[in-house]
Amino acid sequence: MTTQLLAGGWVLDVRAGTRRRADVLVEGSRIAHVAAPGAARASDAPRVDAAGLTILPGFSNNHVHVGWSGMGWDGGPTGILRDEALNDSDGINGIKAAANLRKSLRAGLTALRDLGMRMSAFDAKEALRRGLIKGPRLFIAGRAIMCTGGHTWWCGREADGVDGMRAAVREQVKLGADHIKIIANERTPQYSVEELRAAADEAHRLGRRITAHASIREAIRNVVAAGFDSIEHGGPADDDVIEQIVERKMIVVPTLSPRVLQTERGPSRGMPAGVAAARRKQTLENPPGAPLRRMREAGVKFAFGTDAGSPCVPHDEIMGEIAALLEYEAVAEPLDVVRMLTINSAELRGDDDRLGTVEEGKLADLVAVDGDPLADIRALGNVRHVFVDGEHLVRDGELHDWYDW
Ligand SMILES: [Zn+2]
Repeated sequence: MTTQLLAGGWVLDVRAGTRRRADVLVEGSRIAHVAAPGAARASDAPRVDAAGLTILPGFSNNHVHVGWSGMGWDGGPTGILRDEALNDSDGINGIKAAANLRKSLRAGLTALRDLGMRMSAFDAKEALRRGLIKGPRLFIAGRAIMCTGGHTWWCGREADGVDGMRAAVREQVKLGADHIKIIANERTPQYSVEELRAAADEAHRLGRRITAHASIREAIRNVVAAGFDSIEHGGPADDDVIEQIVERKMIVVPTLSPRVLQTERGPSRGMPAGVAAARRKQTLENPPGAPLRRMREAGVKFAFGTDAGSPCVPHDEIMGEIAALLEYEAVAEPLDVVRMLTINSAELRGDDDRLGTVEEGKLADLVAVDGDPLADIRALGNVRHVFVDGEHLVRDGELHDWYDW
């Protein structure tokens, strides 16, 4: 069993919100000991110099599409995401997924929650299992489920009616989905509460959590009524609905990046001028943080997500989302962001007994960053070391042993 000692750094306790000097001993895939400097067992273990660094639990991005590039306004040959989704071969889609896993590691991401679309997430997960590539843990939804002609129908699994919903959920589980994603709205709600309830019941019966793309008032009301476990994007919600979200401990994954980054970068990456102007107008008239701020003040818990793979949202870009969460006051302080990236993410997936904190016995998914993120959030962008399952994959800021033949 390999042992490694991260020595001379600070460990951030994400629950307490405190930072203390400590060494971290990693044995195999586990955190074996967190101790005062010099006091760790096996102090003759190979050392990783963590002087001046802050050691945190590995970060999670809870809303990604691993098969989408997120490179430009499109990343596809003809101009919009729909064309990327329709025209990419399975091979290209898989290569994008592999590249995105690599990029994610560089940003300190040790777990990705894929929200589905095409099939490449299944292949990426299998490639990780076989050791063909290295990357963050993958928690995948298979194909997202939407009504016939519903939002992003061109890359998901269309399903209608109560029986159709049950069949579509069973199909994703059969393929290997870890969780289920339903598209609940585009400009209007796209499923009845009965259909949503059938999907939620079926997912839960099969031991899976279920989440929904829900960004408008009526859809958020519907998925809460149907018994969903979490909400993607979020948006305006009535007070009684917000109360139920808090009561039922549903977690919301805000994704400010597409709007913010597309507004900022889209025009230089092929975004049509009219679309860019509309995005700017929307952001001015309707700042993206306002509904989230209301939820947060009512006690709703958030987990971190960027919608990586969307146009202009690359998989190694998390600082844009972090800056926007603070700027638009969706969160109050840096510690909120740190919790979103770590413990809240583990709670969202349901693996907080194994991940999400730097504690003895937990899996060694760790990130060491230069500086103190509680004092200056930009420290989260200075990733020096990343461990996944005890494997030291980013060393001194460089990807290492990314592939292992
Ligand atoms: Zn998405």
